[in-house]
Amino acid sequence: VRYIVGIDIGGTNLVVGTVAEDGSELVGEVSEPTHSEEGADAVMGRIGRLVKSSIAGARGKEIAGVGIGSPGPLDTARGVVLFTPNLGWTNFPLRDRVSKMTGLPAELDNDANCAIYGEWWRGAARGARAVVGLTIGTGIGGGIVLDGKIYHGVSDVAGEIGHTTIDPTGRRCKCGNYGCLEAYASGPAIAARAAEGIESGVETSLGKYVGGDLGKLTAQVVYQAAHDGDLYAREVVNDTAKLLGAGVANIINIFNPDVVVICGGVTLAGALLFDPLRREVHRRAFKDAVKACRIVPGELPGTAGVFGAAAAFIHKHRGGSA
Ligand SMILES: [Zn+2]
Repeated sequence: VRYIVGIDIGGTNLVVGTVAEDGSELVGEVSEPTHSEEGADAVMGRIGRLVKSSIAGARGKEIAGVGIGSPGPLDTARGVVLFTPNLGWTNFPLRDRVSKMTGLPAELDNDANCAIYGEWWRGAARGARAVVGLTIGTGIGGGIVLDGKIYHGVSDVAGEIGHTTIDPTGRRCKCGNYGCLEAYASGPAIAARAAEGIESGVETSLGKYVGGDLGKLTAQVVYQAAHDGDLYAREVVNDTAKLLGAGVANIINIFNPDVVVICGGVTLAGALLFDPLRREVHRRAFKDAVKACRIVPGELPGTAGVFGAAAAFIHKHRGGSA
């Protein structure tokens, strides 16, 4: 069995691992903070060292190539990152830089596409025919996997589910549009909605979790307070579930998928989020589509992107199982 190095480039962390072509194992998993503020060359140097140490961890296995998952927008055919606000890269030939640095063939795909592809290959959506997924963190990424292939659309934009409109006159989004799902249900958006309620005087223990400093409020704190029984925190989680439910109902009516997989920090909210989310989807989407679809949390936290980047390489080079 040959092995493929998977690189998951995040705004905060770089994760690299070496994956067996048949998906049976991930070895040499290493990670470091991205420190994108040090510039592209510094980040590339860090990636190079991580790849080396991951391959060393794979102990003499034959390495067939490198798959890279990066924030976009991208031109996957040319292997170029067109622009990424998080990393500050513009028209950056990431695929060829990695290939030159490692001496291995490389392929590039969107980070969220890779995470959902990883969940399809080895995680919660294994074996599914039509998978749509969300990765909820600092933003909301999305990916679509149809019949074992990432669906890219005609210009690599498909899957931007975080930027679908759920309220035409709603909150301003970082993308410039108003009322995007991401402006309500990303981690920072959940924290911001919670902070607004506290500022308007609702009764809640949330302030105590952050020593009265609302700037320190995060979605994780909201989930913790909700689990501890704070009624306002539960209301915020419940509202989040309904907003996500509207987004997922749209997905289900468009794609009629067998699995919708939800990845990222939001899964820590557990049943407090998933139960009302499923109820909302049930209310909104077509019954036959809802019946055919499982809505599940991701099973590969931290490594879905690495598995998926490797799978994207295998798919582009054929001959593999992904
Ligand atoms: Zn947006």
